[in-house]
Amino acid sequence: MQTERLYFADPYLAAFRARVIGRDSREGKPRVALDRSAFYPEGGGQPSDHGTLSGVRVLDVQSDDQVVWHTLERPLDAHEVEGAVDWPRRLDHMQQHHGQHLLSAAFEKLFGFRTVSFHLSPASVTIDLATPAVSEAQLAAAEDLANQVIWEDRPINARFVTPEELAQLSLRKAPVVDGAIRVVSVPEFDHSACGGTHPRSTGVVGLLHLRRADKRGSDTRVEFLCGGRAAKDLRAKNALVTSVSTALTVGPDELEGAVSRLREAEQGTRQRLEDAMERLAAFEATELVAKGSVVVGVYSDRTLSDLKALANQITARGGVALLGLRGEKAQLVFASPAGSAVNAGALLKEVVAQFGGKGGGQAAMAQGGLPDASKLDAALDLARERVPA
Ligand SMILES: [Zn+2]
Repeated sequence: MQTERLYFADPYLAAFRARVIGRDSREGKPRVALDRSAFYPEGGGQPSDHGTLSGVRVLDVQSDDQVVWHTLERPLDAHEVEGAVDWPRRLDHMQQHHGQHLLSAAFEKLFGFRTVSFHLSPASVTIDLATPAVSEAQLAAAEDLANQVIWEDRPINARFVTPEELAQLSLRKAPVVDGAIRVVSVPEFDHSACGGTHPRSTGVVGLLHLRRADKRGSDTRVEFLCGGRAAKDLRAKNALVTSVSTALTVGPDELEGAVSRLREAEQGTRQRLEDAMERLAAFEATELVAKGSVVVGVYSDRTLSDLKALANQITARGGVALLGLRGEKAQLVFASPAGSAVNAGALLKEVVAQFGGKGGGQAAMAQGGLPDASKLDAALDLARERVPA
């Protein structure tokens, strides 16, 4: 049993007729093998084609040795089928895959960076380069060279070669399969062993747009987009820049300055707020300690760090602080002044243990939490009983 792979001879063939030569099922879904198919089976980093066979959706395509298997949404009884490849999906894969060849060749030509892997998914397209670092200038130069070759619209030649011809070509990517070797060539630029689908000329890739480069161990992962994906990404980025610059009432060119001014202003505001909160806590603590040296309080409109600041001001005035913060869970902050008989850490541990909580700290300051916020008052009552008046 063998499938003639129609996409080798014509990667633009999207409609074809074929005979069913095998049937089975995989993971509960029916599969058919065809005598000929224009469907590309997953391989070489390129995902499988989708489409229909006589109106039945093709969910996945895999090759098993010489045979191409089509996983179907539902059973198909016919012996003769009409295949229709989902063309927008295929074109997208051809743009990304051929763009990858050009980008890998550009990195290798310009800087000797070898591509060690290629990944193409609906969410992203990446290559891993065998180098721990790529500079911004190198990224830009490789992007420029790949785009130059795209805009020159050079012909792409994909063919099976004899071992003798293979020996003549200096391949960027060596074959990983035995037997007949298929080589995808761009004149005077790149020859790679590849079984994928490629357009007739480089211009179809449209545009290659680099997004980011990240170090991954001893390699660098470069993320990029080609053709329709590049246009979509740039459209989304343009919309984002427009909406943010409208919100900040500056032009797109002034965004960077506007954001750094905002951050500076925010830092100043935060510092002034912290200073004000500290002064407020000092006044508050003076008032509380004047009423009694053991201060018990429950709050709900403050942060944990506000509570700790208040506890510090209370102990600085010789008071013991038993404070609770009521939220989804309850939090406790206990603090005692230097030389006090009260050990805040030990007391907090004892109290949270009674109510299924957790926490700890030092003799001077401790904090903890209770999973059940309704136990907060009872926990503070218990703590109050343990502290000598
Ligand atoms: Zn390839």
